[in-house]
Amino acid sequence: MKLQLVTSQPKSPQPLVRFFARGQRSQLPVAVSERTFALSTGSLLHLHESGTLCVGLGDGSTADHFRRAAASATKALRRQGHDACTFDVRGLQEHLGPLVEGALLGSYRFEDFKTADKSTPALASLTLLVPATDARTKAAAQRGLALGQAANRARQIANQPPNVFYPQTLAETAAAIARERKLKLTVLDEKALRKGKFGGLLAVGGGSARPPRLVVLRYDGGRKGEAPIALVGKAVTFDSGGISIKPALGMEEMVWDKCGGCAVLGMMAGVAALGLKQNVVGIIPAAENLLDGLSYRPGDIVTVYDGKHIEINNTDAEGRVILADALGYAVKDVKARQIIDLATLTGAAVVALGDHVAGLWSNHSELRAGLQEAAEKAGEKVWHMPLFPEYEEQIRSQIALIKNSSGRPGGANTAATFLKTFVGDTPWAHLDIAGPAAADKEMAFFARGATGFGVRTVLEYLAGLDD
Ligand code: MN
Ligand code: ZN
Repeated sequence: MKLQLVTSQPKSPQPLVRFFARGQRSQLPVAVSERTFALSTGSLLHLHESGTLCVGLGDGSTADHFRRAAASATKALRRQGHDACTFDVRGLQEHLGPLVEGALLGSYRFEDFKTADKSTPALASLTLLVPATDARTKAAAQRGLALGQAANRARQIANQPPNVFYPQTLAETAAAIARERKLKLTVLDEKALRKGKFGGLLAVGGGSARPPRLVVLRYDGGRKGEAPIALVGKAVTFDSGGISIKPALGMEEMVWDKCGGCAVLGMMAGVAALGLKQNVVGIIPAAENLLDGLSYRPGDIVTVYDGKHIEINNTDAEGRVILADALGYAVKDVKARQIIDLATLTGAAVVALGDHVAGLWSNHSELRAGLQEAAEKAGEKVWHMPLFPEYEEQIRSQIALIKNSSGRPGGANTAATFLKTFVGDTPWAHLDIAGPAAADKEMAFFARGATGFGVRTVLEYLAGLDD
């Protein structure tokens, strides 16, 4: 998308978007009642004659008011067939980043498989009408652009259906990002996974004709030799549950089971676009959980990368089994100084927190607080969840070290506790994004489908380490 800053209103006939907080009703270009235009966040008033779109900011007190207002505007403009618009941001320079970010997030839709007459062009050009094009203003706009594009990249990948997108396609997508952003790429195919004893990926991916991959992207923006931060994302490109098969109703939602890995792909593109001064490694275990004669079974004992043994009692609790390999790799090979993992890990997280909130577990209070603060900035909701020792007893196995499922009580917490087993003393945080990763219907400010949840939170967190 083309982003340009101008100091006088362009003559082109594209819509002009103006923003108004609740207290600014008197500044509206026309007199309208509260009933016609409430000025609540994202409420819209089209003034067709002048080609102006007025957008409510609510009380305009947080970055998210600006983000959502901008998203609401571009979502509506795309629906009307506009692919270009001008934002009047004079007086709003402080909020430029979230405004640009929101413009991108609101404009995105997944239309790869729509017929031409049903599809609409994405936002191709965003012009910002500013008082002055100083370096600070430019930097804020660029930052918003990088964050918005990173999230949309993750959404575009995650929205791909599982018949065209599987572990090898994910590896190829990572290769394209690596080329574009000059990242180092390592892909372990099934042969390399066998040689390296990645028992978790091989077990979970064993039932699919599309074999698993471990995809590793590396960005070196920090000091030479400084231990990197590892971003680990679960990518189960389709989850049937395996032998512990899921009910038919709603199984199609399991196309979203790759959203953690897709978020990490978006983040790695974003880390490079922002030019962060950190060493960051993205690690994506990718597998398809299907059924055939080579599927892993309940009753199996799987030995994962770091040598620990897992009793399998439910093949549908597969995310943690591939993450065990990836976390072991982050500790042993990457020697990460911090690990952040994202996964659509449990239905229990959705039961506990709902569709819009991710659970956050961590063994390190500073990392946890940093992520909470970053999520606040990004307008993504996370909630701190516990790692009590009782959960460890719950997942203890009679025949191996731990079992991969221990039933419904505290299911999101026992899953997080399972992951903790594989990070040792490394500061680690886990985001269970099963709720907010995707929406199966149109949202107020954003399109149906993958949300890119986590991308902007983690980028805000990493950017905060630079300051
Ligand atoms: Mn599953
Ligand atoms: Zn899963």
